[in-house]
Amino acid sequence: MPELPEVQTVINGLKTEVVGEKIREIVEHREDTVQLHHKISMEDYGTIKSIDRRGKYIIVNTTTCKLLIHLRMTGKLLLTKNLQKTTPHNRAEIVFDNKKLIFDDIRTFGSICIFNKKQKTGKIESLGLEPFSKEFNIKNLKSVFARRSAPIKNALLNQKIIAGLGNIYACESLYKAGISPLSPANSLTKAQLEKLTSAIKKVLETAIVQGGTTISDYRNSSDKKGNFQKMLSVYKKEQCPQGHEVKKLKQAGRSTYYCPVCQK
Ligand SMILES: [Zn+2]
Repeated sequence: MPELPEVQTVINGLKTEVVGEKIREIVEHREDTVQLHHKISMEDYGTIKSIDRRGKYIIVNTTTCKLLIHLRMTGKLLLTKNLQKTTPHNRAEIVFDNKKLIFDDIRTFGSICIFNKKQKTGKIESLGLEPFSKEFNIKNLKSVFARRSAPIKNALLNQKIIAGLGNIYACESLYKAGISPLSPANSLTKAQLEKLTSAIKKVLETAIVQGGTTISDYRNSSDKKGNFQKMLSVYKKEQCPQGHEVKKLKQAGRSTYYCPVCQK
């Protein structure tokens, strides 16, 4: 599942290619992939002004509207200059003059939602702290964890607390911070919160530099794999970098990988 670094990698690839392009049409190949949340003339999606990220959402701002894209489990945005090209799971296409963006999605959970420029989306407004913002600090983390006795691993996956982390980077950040995934969120000391904030930023930063993680099917907008899978410490590993055996357990239905020796 694409997490913050994969979504950011897709955005970085798209920015240079589609900002300034006029959207000629949006073609839907599978019902409900494109969801219109306001009355816009279908002929006027405008020209792309900027592309931003909030959590795992891609926000495409145009001169007339905004598109909110979520890749969910298996969504991919593939840019091509071949207007005849298609892919096996082509759900929708955003068409420009001389290129198009194919939204390919095997599992079909992803979507492209279209809103007025200033309209509330009901999706991004409730997201939690953004890891690269100045609000992502020990004081705010302490306050959002204060009433949460759930295991820290589950708290990290909650998008209303921190936006953008998924299973891979939650496991990797906890390993880097030396914190057990089982520790109650509100039990973390100031020193642990300090380690955790810097671990999360460091892990995400490194993953973006590496173009994300490709475990199964993630690809960037040029259909290239990421490289961070070569740098994983515990996720789907048998040994941690210190040579200890990595343990696996289920937390809130998701597999947690951790080292019981390095993480306390
Ligand atoms: Zn270890």
